Amino acid sequence: MLKDAILERGKALNQDVLLVDSFLNHQVDVPLMKAIGEEFAKHFADKGLTRIVTIESSGIAPAAFTALAMGLPLVIMKKQTSKIMNGNLLQTTVCSFTKGTQYELTVKHEFLPAGEKILLIDDFLASGEAAFGVLNLVQQAGSEVCGVGIVIEKAFQSGHKRLVDMGMDVYSLARIASVSPDSIEFAD
Ligand code: 5GP
Repeated sequence: MLKDAILERGKALNQDVLLVDSFLNHQVDVPLMKAIGEEFAKHFADKGLTRIVTIESSGIAPAAFTALAMGLPLVIMKKQTSKIMNGNLLQTTVCSFTKGTQYELTVKHEFLPAGEKILLIDDFLASGEAAFGVLNLVQQAGSEVCGVGIVIEKAFQSGHKRLVDMGMDVYSLARIASVSPDSIEFAD
């Protein structure tokens, strides 16, 4: 289902960036998100997880359905703080792949307490900067990331190798080998 959606509804912006706003992060294909959540739940069922974490805003739809399928709480890490965001905040700077800017990834410590077994769900894996930001905050919290579930991995970028090299269990539902205006090739 996901590969069909990518081929039929995905659009290459250039050779690095795939637009999936017709089904994943602007208009949302809810039955597809439900199937994605169930697949992540099946894959990570035996990990003893206690909490799902994602980054606003594109990771929220797949992460919410994963949390529903696993019966676990979901925590959304914020890219911006606001005056009403008070309490004990954990923060780290992340470089945005698509925007080329930096943001302060932020979470309230009370929603990411110590001793949790975390599953990170995100829409894309490119260079891995966003995932490393989450790993940093989870470490600050005194918890552990036990798995990383990615909807679309761009296998031609370094994120997968960086995470696997540090012993992470990375499960990507679609792995893309190359993107061009004429074709999208899958890695396997
Ligand atoms: P990374 O931090 O791994 O370099 O990039 C991951 C983040 O950048 C994802 O959370 C996603 O929001 C965004 N991103 C990276 N590559 C793409 C892409 O090709 N298309 C879209 N729509 N977002 C991307």
